[in-house]
Amino acid sequence: MNSTTEVYSSRVKRVRQQLKTLEIDALLVSLGADLPYLVGATAMPLERLTMLVVKQDEHPQMIVPELEAPLMPEMPDVFAILPWQEGSDPMDDLIEVLGDASTVAFGDQAWAQFLVELLQRRPELKVRRSSEVLTPLRIRKDAAELAALRVAAAAADRVVARLQQGDITLVGRTEAQVSRQIAEQLVEEGHEFHNFSIVAAGANAASPHHHADDTVIQRGQGVLFDIGGTYDGYCSDITRCVYLGEPDGEFQDAYDVLFEAQAAGVAAATVGTTFEDIDAASRQIIEDAGYGKYFMHRVGHGIGMSAHEDPYLVSGNTERLEAGHCFSIEPGIYIEGKFGMRLEDIVIAHESGPEPINLVPHELAVIDA
Ligand code: ZN
Ligand code: ZN
Ligand code: ZN
Repeated sequence: MNSTTEVYSSRVKRVRQQLKTLEIDALLVSLGADLPYLVGATAMPLERLTMLVVKQDEHPQMIVPELEAPLMPEMPDVFAILPWQEGSDPMDDLIEVLGDASTVAFGDQAWAQFLVELLQRRPELKVRRSSEVLTPLRIRKDAAELAALRVAAAAADRVVARLQQGDITLVGRTEAQVSRQIAEQLVEEGHEFHNFSIVAAGANAASPHHHADDTVIQRGQGVLFDIGGTYDGYCSDITRCVYLGEPDGEFQDAYDVLFEAQAAGVAAATVGTTFEDIDAASRQIIEDAGYGKYFMHRVGHGIGMSAHEDPYLVSGNTERLEAGHCFSIEPGIYIEGKFGMRLEDIVIAHESGPEPINLVPHELAVIDA
């Protein structure tokens, strides 16, 4: 076995152990990051069924449209390929592979269509979520995964550095134009794809997930950039703000609070701390400064092969941070009709403490526009 095959076969082995522990007969994964995590293959987001079936004691089988079978990695030690022909019903294959399985874990991101069809054919089947099986595996990244996350973060940082240095023209251009340029640069810097490039100028930034539109960026505005792509299967995600011209006192005061809150969130991210306490450590600073009602989202999310995944750093999550967790710390302040701002780094948890992997400056970049 080569090293890639070994990685996947050890993941599949751990899945089978999980299935036994959780008393689940089979794991069914399709779209989303579960499949590439387990076997390095992806399912096309189309109507034809691609599904890997992992059972406790049988060799895993990949049900795949015959026309897409050549795209599957050949790893016979890890899984067998079961191609289905156009015109036949892949649900027949799935039912056969499942055999007498009575409890299955179904992919969180697999099409609901296939779950409905499966339950019509096997109404007595008990269904659980794939995340029950896979989150405990995916949440702790190994050294190779952390290395890929660092490369992705560095690539996104290089694009942000250009924005902070004023090397990408902003004034007079629309948010959408700048967003497209950022998307291209994310790819030029090494990402395989660009996932998102939020550009929000002035009051638009008060909507945390604003879609870059035809708003023309002007002097005297703060501009928020939240950008990310995928490198070797792993995601980047960073937010920074710039100000075009000299920021007014109100903007700068709020930013100073945000800066402190973000640093406090990172500092609180020590192994053993609960996720809600990390959220609270950052949030407290914003609340104490009187901006509490302007920070309406959780402080962060896990990241890996998905841009958002476990762990979620949110009030009510009493799970504890462990070494190998990788997540964002991204407090924000959003004042409707005025401005919005967010500051986001991806952080890796180590026994020795938090390691932020986005290294471009955290200060408000003031651009002489
Ligand atoms: Zn977000
Ligand atoms: Zn982000
Ligand atoms: Zn994020």
